[in-house]
Parts: sequence; structure tokens; C-alpha cells
Amino acid sequence: RVRCLDLGAIDFIPKPFEMAELKARVRSAIRIQQLLRMLAQRAQLDGLTALWNRAYFDQRLAAEFAEARRHARPLSLILCDIDHFKGVNDRFGHPFGDEVLALFATILSGGRASDVPCRYGGEEFGVILPATSLIEAVDVAERFRRAFEEHQWRRHPELVLTASFGVSDITMLEASGQPSDMLAKADAALYAAKRAGRNRVSST
Ligand code: GH3
Ligand code: MG
Ligand code: MG
Repeated sequence: RVRCLDLGAIDFIPKPFEMAELKARVRSAIRIQQLLRMLAQRAQLDGLTALWNRAYFDQRLAAEFAEARRHARPLSLILCDIDHFKGVNDRFGHPFGDEVLALFATILSGGRASDVPCRYGGEEFGVILPATSLIEAVDVAERFRRAFEEHQWRRHPELVLTASFGVSDITMLEASGQPSDMLAKADAALYAAKRAGRNRVSST
């Protein structure tokens, strides 16, 4: 019994056994498996927006980068940051700020099923776009930007909120380039969008 359990068995039921007990033990094992699976998934999700979290983002970007390199396929990355978000919290309160984050997450989730929207941290988000060229990704970012700007805030009809976007793709990198370089390029582009006046998409 000890060897069996040490080898990874969930349970050990010696013969002769009662069918009712066997079934109860199987049910119990299934419950534990479901719980473990749920915990593993929760650890990769952001609680507020239900997008993937930073830990998952890092791991997934590395995986998609390796795949794109191996098959010489396009790969793009959008980083975005809500403009003057601190002022939104200050003026309308944190609960409304949280609503804004959730709405922005919904917009980022509206792309292709293969796109991977993540909450990078605070009011910063990243979307990994497998099999997507830079031109296409800029187009996607522009759609996100416009959808956010045009959103009607029910409780504050006069309010217009905006976000800035930085886009990079794998072809911008040298042969020795790494996922962190793709991130740095998107981040530099995001910074350029902020400096140029916010509410825009930049890819340089
Ligand atoms: P910029 O246009 O330069 O991006 O200015 P900003 O005000 O958006 O940037 P800053 O980094 O100064 O402020 C980010 C704010 O985001 C500060 C922080 O309180 C707020 N924030 C971060 N996480 C959350 C959250 O989970 N909920 C809410 N309501 N606010 C958050
Ligand atoms: Mg920020
Ligand atoms: Mg901001």
C-alpha cells in the first residue's frame, strides 16, 4: 500500500471491497482533482477582470515566441495603459475605477479567439497576438482604442476616457532577440504614444 501511494496513486482499495465504498472513493478522488484544476487556473487569472494575469502572460509570451521562431510565423504584442487613470480614481472613486478596468478588459477580449489578453498590472494590459503581423496588430489596437474612447459611461455621460497603445512584432528583433526584447519594444512604443499626447497607437 505504501509503495502504491508513494508511486502516485490517489488511493488504495484492497480486495474484497464493497462497490458502494469504491464508488464513494472514486467520487472523492474526482472532487479533489476538480479542486486542484480550479486552483491551478485561478492562480493564472486576474481576480478583477478575469483576464490572464502577469505570471501567465510571461509564460505564454515565451511559449508563443518559441513557436513563432520555430515555424517562422508572425507574432505581435500590444501593450496598453489607460490615460490619466489616477485622476479617474480621484474624481469618481475606486469602485468606478474598477468598473473602468473591467470594461477595458471586455474590449480587449473582443479580438480573435487566438489572441491572449492579460492584465499586466494596475491599469496596464498586454495582448499577445499569435500569427499576426505588425500591420494587423496596429489595426487591432486602433479598434480597441476607438472602442474605449467611444464608450458611453452610463453614470457619467459626459466622461470620455482614453488609453495609449504600443505595438511590437517579432520581425523587429535581431536573430538573437528574446521575448523580453519584444516586450521592451512594445513598452518603448507605448511610452512614445504617451509622450506624443496619449489616446493613440504607436509602433516605433
Ligand atoms: P498616464 O496617462 O501617464 O498613464 O497616467 P495615469 O494616471 O494613468 O498613471 P499612474 O501610473 O500615475 O496611475 C495609475 C493608477 O492606477 C494609480 C492606481 O491607483 C490605479 N490603479 C492600479 N490598480 C488599480 C485597481 O485595481 N483599481 C483601481 N480602481 N485603480 C487602480
Ligand atoms: Mg500605468
Ligand atoms: Mg495610465
